[in-house]
Amino acid sequence: MPISEILLAGASERDLTKLEEYHMVGGYAQLARARELEPAAILAELDASNLRGRGGAFFATGKKAGFMPRDSPRPKYLTVNADESEPGTFKDREIMLRVPHRVIEGSLITAHAIEARHVFIYIRGEYLTEFEVLRAALDEAREAELLGGVTLVLHRGAGAYICGEETGLLESLEGKRGQPRAKPPYPAITGLYGAPTLINNVETMATVPKIMELGGEEYAKLGTPDSTGTRVFSLSGNVVRGGNYELPNGTTLRELIYDIGGGVPDGRELKAIIPGGSSVQILTADQVDTPLSYDAMREAGSSVGSGAIIVIDDRACIVQLGLRVAQFYMHESCGKCTPCREGTRWMVQLLNRIEDGDAEEDELDLLLDVCDRILGHCLCPLGDAAAMPIASYVDKFRDEFREHVRAGRCPYGGESSLERVFAPVDQHRGHPTVEVAT
Ligand code: SF4
Repeated sequence: MPISEILLAGASERDLTKLEEYHMVGGYAQLARARELEPAAILAELDASNLRGRGGAFFATGKKAGFMPRDSPRPKYLTVNADESEPGTFKDREIMLRVPHRVIEGSLITAHAIEARHVFIYIRGEYLTEFEVLRAALDEAREAELLGGVTLVLHRGAGAYICGEETGLLESLEGKRGQPRAKPPYPAITGLYGAPTLINNVETMATVPKIMELGGEEYAKLGTPDSTGTRVFSLSGNVVRGGNYELPNGTTLRELIYDIGGGVPDGRELKAIIPGGSSVQILTADQVDTPLSYDAMREAGSSVGSGAIIVIDDRACIVQLGLRVAQFYMHESCGKCTPCREGTRWMVQLLNRIEDGDAEEDELDLLLDVCDRILGHCLCPLGDAAAMPIASYVDKFRDEFREHVRAGRCPYGGESSLERVFAPVDQHRGHPTVEVAT
């Protein structure tokens, strides 16, 4: 089976934002079929597919849905997390822009699987165009009476990264300040409005119709045993052809960066790779043959996270990179717990001193100590997301940090090629933004 028949299938040939066109590629046929099945049969297919959540946590989708109580006296909710905010990640927006009906169809199938009558899609506030495309698709689906009595609400966030954390998202949906909740209880038991709630990522939902079409076992033959199927990978940074590419899990970083992305521009050398969005540990150039799969990345000391691959060339200053990442997380920390609120500020202050050449050698260890005091001591994953990458930058590029201290200045100065790292997504437009491996 050609790989091109998965997430973005048909989107290069047709305008799949239109219901009529989506019907032409078999759209909503799997929803009709799913509604003929018992919910348990759908959960069995999801289990067999071994689909793992595409938001970055990699939890098994079928298992997570199976945590929802079957006989709850309270309403059950499905919430679709479209609050894509991880720096370097821009794949959910591509999916919403190009196959919005697939997101809706997958959400409605999943709602049937957990017997939910209410679906909320929580979309990042800055994604106005994506919101409008999804809303138009939803209007079409409603008009065609495809919702089957399910209420589907599109809710726009207000631009906070922390609302991508599932309980922060629920707080925000309830109209409160978007701060994470302590867990347990988990959302499957006490979620939105205190009722059982399943939360899934956009890409995860858009994969569900194809799993129903192929059957879970067939889908599981794609990719690798631990990371089945395909993903839309966001490629950015110092690379010739940045953009979104749908590829089987297990594709190597080298294949993505060089064969598909055209390699590092201007004859420069590859220096490092961030393989899963800003919150994961950095890899060095000699790890470029690592496959993009859960197990392989874990063995390499990092994570494929949100599927955002950021390429860093030999003209990029790693201290500047660390400072930019730390500033982001300091800004986005909700302030609820001390290690994150205070620790991210400490990281920024120390990285500023190192970058400016004002730091002493022992401040590198102090920076690692601050990271250590954040890791595992916070209420939600944001604290770890801030500390893990910074600790890895110091660990793998300590000589570069030392050189700042020794020279009393940044060796790259204003010449760093960092401008395309975490650059606005639109800088990567103009290239063919989606190519599908065949
Ligand atoms: Fe808020 Fe940071 Fe604590 Fe998460 S880790 S709850 S973002 S202060």
